[in-house]
Amino acid sequence: MSTIFTKIIAKEIPADIVYEDDLVLAFRDIAPQAPLHILVIPKQEIATANDVTADDELALGRLFTAAAKIAADQGIAENGYRLIVNCNAHGGQEVFHLHMHILGGRSLGPMLTKRETD
Ligand code: AMP
Repeated sequence: MSTIFTKIIAKEIPADIVYEDDLVLAFRDIAPQAPLHILVIPKQEIATANDVTADDELALGRLFTAAAKIAADQGIAENGYRLIVNCNAHGGQEVFHLHMHILGGRSLGPMLTKRETD
């Protein structure tokens, strides 16, 4: 089932696009969680990390090469950044078109905030 990201790929709704090639598109997150927060998405529709198949390997590999280029272009490569792919409810996934978050621009601290119930 299509999501809002399909409309962004089709340029039917606006997005602040920072990178595009034949397989992936990258644009700034509408609700940034860090000074730099960019989403990189495959142009083909893959709902979640659970739905990945061998046919997706080229596009999903491209997410990483695009992320490396974007990090360099945005000036965060040397200091570092975090790449995140959320899956389903426990992962906190909200948009069911697989995407990679690039978060950077400051020290991001521990990977997860520990809760008292953990
Ligand atoms: P996730 O929780 O991993 O599914 O992340 C979905 C992300 O998409 C969130 O960080 C949202 O802020 C972001 N998002 C939702 N709609 C848009 C949009 N139209 N343009 C840019 N980012 C969006």
